[in-house]
Amino acid sequence: MRLQTADAFILGTHPLKERDRIVSLLTRDSGRRRGVARRARGARSAFLGTLEPMTEARVMFFEREGRELVSIDSIDPIRPSFPLSKDLERALLLSAFAESLETFVSDSDPAEPFYRLARHAMDSLFAGAPPPAVAAYFDVWILKLSGLFPSPAECAGCGRPLERKTTLYFDENRPGFIEAECRHGEAIRLTDEGAATLRTFLSSPLDPQARPGGVAELASVARRARRNFLGHELKSHRVLAEVLGA
Ligand SMILES: [Zn+2]
Repeated sequence: MRLQTADAFILGTHPLKERDRIVSLLTRDSGRRRGVARRARGARSAFLGTLEPMTEARVMFFEREGRELVSIDSIDPIRPSFPLSKDLERALLLSAFAESLETFVSDSDPAEPFYRLARHAMDSLFAGAPPPAVAAYFDVWILKLSGLFPSPAECAGCGRPLERKTTLYFDENRPGFIEAECRHGEAIRLTDEGAATLRTFLSSPLDPQARPGGVAELASVARRARRNFLGHELKSHRVLAEVLGA
């Protein structure tokens, strides 16, 4: 057994026996990891306030060869997420980020780009960026990093380059972006504003001062691409959509 240290985002916890918890973590070097936090339940636990979804923390743990579960020694928050979760919309968004990362990041593979995305989304929320914009940006990028977000640069129907002035349609059955001539059946038409925001999202970091338009369309495109791959919608996203839509 050796003691190791890693920076990680907390993705979630499950109760284990009477007093322990299994903690799911996003790490840079080894993707998703799971560990046992002993005596993590109860009001006097040393882990109190450190296990909120999307809290970034320095985790010390023991790893035993051949064992999937590590044994967590301590969790020291680098940036707790609780200041954001006072607000319902942001609190739900944290759960949605955590569930997406849990779903799309694989066990034990390096996950630096996913870690950077998580950090960037959290930086943006702390800097005051509007939650729907951060949500759409995160959803587009987690799919892109997973190889599941189509490029808006060429038509998925005929392969021709899509000019910036071409009206974009999203066909969820391919899934891909297409021009008007290649449409058959149902396809979502993106507004010029939505298409411009998509190109900005794909080419640059989120500006917390910006108020990008068309983010609801992009959220809808990402939802369809995600559902097309998973075959169902993520639980936290259903709740979030109901609250954001209300
Ligand atoms: Zn085409």
